[in-house]
Amino acid sequence: MDQTEATPVVPLEAGAGPENPPCPACGEPLFGWIGRKDGLEGPVRRCESCGLAIVGAPGDAAAALHELDSLRREDMVQIENRGSFACALGGAGWSGLQPGRRHLFTVEAVRRLVAQRDQVVKSARWRPLAGLAGTWQTLLNSVTFGRNVALGALRDLPAVPAAQPWQRRIDALASVVLAIPALVIAIPVELLGGLSRRGAVIAIRLELF
Ligand SMILES: [Zn+2]
Repeated sequence: MDQTEATPVVPLEAGAGPENPPCPACGEPLFGWIGRKDGLEGPVRRCESCGLAIVGAPGDAAAALHELDSLRREDMVQIENRGSFACALGGAGWSGLQPGRRHLFTVEAVRRLVAQRDQVVKSARWRPLAGLAGTWQTLLNSVTFGRNVALGALRDLPAVPAAQPWQRRIDALASVVLAIPALVIAIPVELLGGLSRRGAVIAIRLELF
């Protein structure tokens, strides 16, 4: 189904307008993806061409590059992959939708963005353990009231706790009881994702032209 929706029957430019501002990475129009949610600054739009998603009002390429640079770890940039199996499976429950995030990257979006400052993607490597953690959390998000509750507790991932105390108690219990079943599903999902270049977490090395 998704495949059919993603196939444009008219040039994507024809969809450009106030509701569909241009993608800061590739210039194609952005389309609505996820409505406003707790912990997010606004509704989320995505680019059907390069895969970049943007929370709230889209900015320019400089803003996207600034956020990309904030994800730098030593000489690599580590992204939660908007083009991952985990994201396709999780949708609004994807663990990459974190408070404070404005730009949700794919490798292709990074490639387009850094080209604007004369850089190339030298390598893009799947990070299996980080990816597995993200995919596992994405699965748990489908059964909890809050989001990223387990990784928020275990690894300091920005989390959105449920509003009510009783919901938070259920979330804590569900995260413990379902930890192993979620892992059993997450392992093949993330393995298939990683092997088809759609892993949940990708470390990217950039170089000047
Ligand atoms: Zn784009």
